[in-house]
Order: sequence, then C-alpha cells, then structure tokens
Amino acid sequence: MKTEFSLAQLADPDIAEADKILRACVHCGFCTATCPTYVLLGDELDSPRGRIYLIKEMLEKDKPPTAEVVKHIDRCLSCLACMTTCPSGVNYMHLVDQARVRIERDFSRPLTERVLRKVLAWVLPRPKLFRASMILARLGRPFTALLPTPTAGSASPTLLRRIKAMLALAPNGLPAPGPGGGSVFAAVGERRGRVALLQGCAQQVLAPRINQAAINLLTRHGVEVVLVKDEQCCGALTHHLGHDGDALGRARANISVWQREAEQGGLDAILVTTSGCGTVIKDYGFMLREDREFAGPAARISLLAKDITEYLAGIDLHPSAQKGSVTIAYHSACSLQHGQKITALPKELLSKNGFVVKDVPESHLCCGSAGTYNILQPDIASRLRDRKVANIATVKPDMIAAGNIGCMIQIASGTSVPVVHTIELLDWATGGPKPGLN
Ligand code: SF4
Ligand code: SF4
Repeated sequence: MKTEFSLAQLADPDIAEADKILRACVHCGFCTATCPTYVLLGDELDSPRGRIYLIKEMLEKDKPPTAEVVKHIDRCLSCLACMTTCPSGVNYMHLVDQARVRIERDFSRPLTERVLRKVLAWVLPRPKLFRASMILARLGRPFTALLPTPTAGSASPTLLRRIKAMLALAPNGLPAPGPGGGSVFAAVGERRGRVALLQGCAQQVLAPRINQAAINLLTRHGVEVVLVKDEQCCGALTHHLGHDGDALGRARANISVWQREAEQGGLDAILVTTSGCGTVIKDYGFMLREDREFAGPAARISLLAKDITEYLAGIDLHPSAQKGSVTIAYHSACSLQHGQKITALPKELLSKNGFVVKDVPESHLCCGSAGTYNILQPDIASRLRDRKVANIATVKPDMIAAGNIGCMIQIASGTSVPVVHTIELLDWATGGPKPGLN
C-alpha cells in the first residue's frame, strides 16, 4: 500500500512503524474472510482491510478522527485473526494499538462513553475495587429487567445496553481470594525449576482456582512458584482501551519487580494463565522500545514470559488420576492462537494426559469476550458468543477448556456445559481435584 507521510511525520518512530506496516499490505483482502466483524456485519469498513485504510487516512491527515472512523475501529475485537490469515505479514496489532491511542488522544467521545471507559480502566486492573464492583453489580442485577431491551442486535449500543451487559456478566458469588503477592510455594521433592506466576487482576477475583491449579501442578512436578510482591495488572486492559500512559506505567512497574525477583531468587520463566495478558507481556519489548531505561529490560522480560502450556511442554507430567473417558471441546483463545501462535500445544498436553480432545468448528472466530469488548459492544459480542456456543455444541463435550478467563466467562454465560481452564484439567489428570465449577 502506498503511503504519503511527510518526512517530518516519519521522524516520529510510531509513524515510521505505521508506515512500515501499511506498506506491507497489498490489499488482497484475504483477511476479510476470517474477520469476525466482517463475517457478522458484511461491511468492508468493519474488515481488517477497511480499518487499515481508515487508520492510514487518520494518521496521514494527522487530524482528529471522525465519529465514523472511531465507530469502525471500536468494533474491532483486536482478536488478530487477520494477522494469522494475512500472507504479507501485516502487523495489524501494532497498527490498531496505535490507532486506539490516537483516538483517545484526539477524539472527544460523548460524556457518558468517556465516563464508562474511565470507570472500566480504573476498576478492572484493581482487584480489590473489582471485587467490590462485582458485589455491587450482583446487587444491581435484579434491576436490569427495568432497563430497555434492544429490539435487534445493535452494532452501536447505548449506554444502558452496556450497563445491562456489564451487570449480566457479574457472577452469582465470588470465591475467597487466593494467596497474595510475596507468597512462595516450595517444590515437592527435588527442585528442578523456579518460576513467577502472573497473578492477574480480574482472574484472581473471579477464579483464583485457576492459579491454584497451576501452583499445585507445578510444585507437584518439582517447580517452585513465586507470586511476585508488588506485581500489578499487566496493562492489557488499559492498553486495549488506548490508555497507553497507564498501560506503559504498569509495564514498567512489573518489569522492575520481576527483574528484582530474577536477580534475587532466579526465574526460569514468568508464567501466564491468562493468554490475553501473555500476548501483551510478550509485547512489552516492542511497547517500550523507545524507552532508554526500560527497552533492554522489557525485551528480556518479554522473552521470559511464557504461556503455562509452553512451560509444561518441557516437563514430563505424571498422569495419575482415573478420569474415565472425558471429551473436551478445546476453545482456542484468540490471544493464544492468533496473538501468541500457540495452537496445537494445549491440545497435545490434554490428549497426552488422557482426555479426548475435540476441535471446535470455526475455531478461528472470536467468542466475543475480547477484554472489555463484551461490555462496550455487547450485541456483536453476544452474537459471536452464541455462534461459538452453537459450534461447541456440535462436538457434544463433557467439558469446555480454554486458556483465558475472559473467554471462559463469555462462553459460560451461554451454555450449561462446565467451562474450565486447561491447567485445571492437567492438574486433575496429575492428581489434583476434578474441576467443573464455573
Ligand atoms: S490479508 Fe494482509 S495484505 Fe491482504 S488486505 Fe489483509 S492485511 Fe492487507
Ligand atoms: S483484529 Fe479481529 S476484529 Fe479486528 S480487524 Fe482483525 S480480524 Fe477483524
């Protein structure tokens, strides 16, 4: 794609990067077929190619984006299916990340929208606040019946519709908090490794059982696990909202504490059980590439970050539990399959450990969770969820496995089949408790 940035514009490293990405696009349109919003809405401007044009225009003109441009960029799930499909290696992720930052900087959203986004950006990364808000949401849920119901799925939802979606996602009850930062879990038997386990923000409130399963499995196999003191939310949630100042601040804080831990106690890896977070931590090196102080450490931390299945692939797991024949529908989270290109590994681990693993039709399509997307774009998100659940039902599973809490909550809201994390199944197979509580 030909671009027309001025030399002055190209002096900005972000614009230079955008120019490189845009020039790689040959407008072939292969990406449109696998883009969930194009599949649902059929509008070229809701396809990757259409959005790439819109972003190009916005950056070249260097003027505040129009409401129309913002609408189509906001509808993008950042699922990155387009990056998997693209034969030219267009890095859509870095392009749309930059577009979101530009929109937050230059576009004046309606007041209610600004407030909603600020609240989400403030509450979600703070576990204590998030826990309190989930309790409030649960109390407020009976009143959702009083809110108007949209007649048809809208791709431009109202504030009330979004509030309704937010309240609907609140769980009926919250588990007790898991162990906090600073906890160390000793390896059972001879120590063969030492890792940090990302504590996550929403996950530690909604499902601390996931990291507990990871700790149980790792320590049982001789790996010491540390929950690093003063670790924060990885920044993924605010990064995807275009609040880069917040996201980069969190990245720097985490790099500092992980680096300290690595120097003091040694770390073989920083393990992540929420693939949405893993994709962003693996991108810290890029996000901070212009930061003199943090560029080097960020690149090193990105190399240390691993999805838990990547680490487990290097360990000889010992299946011990008698489970009978359990059929698992494996839902491949977008952040894992498109963001980190981890596709076969989780399924291989499950199969090797005695599960009957089934692929889900249209597995490349997003379930509609996508961070805060199911709150900000609830109607598109619901349509994607229903499609995903219908596809899952065709393989008649006993359980559904995924590697990302956002997908787990989203899918569980549309099915009665238990939705569990891959690590819970592997823990069960190697001597842990049977999972199955949503
Ligand atoms: S597949 Fe790649 S090169 Fe083709 S239009 Fe999409 S982004 Fe551009
Ligand atoms: S990230 Fe997903 S929703 Fe966005 S353009 Fe690419 S395929 Fe479409």
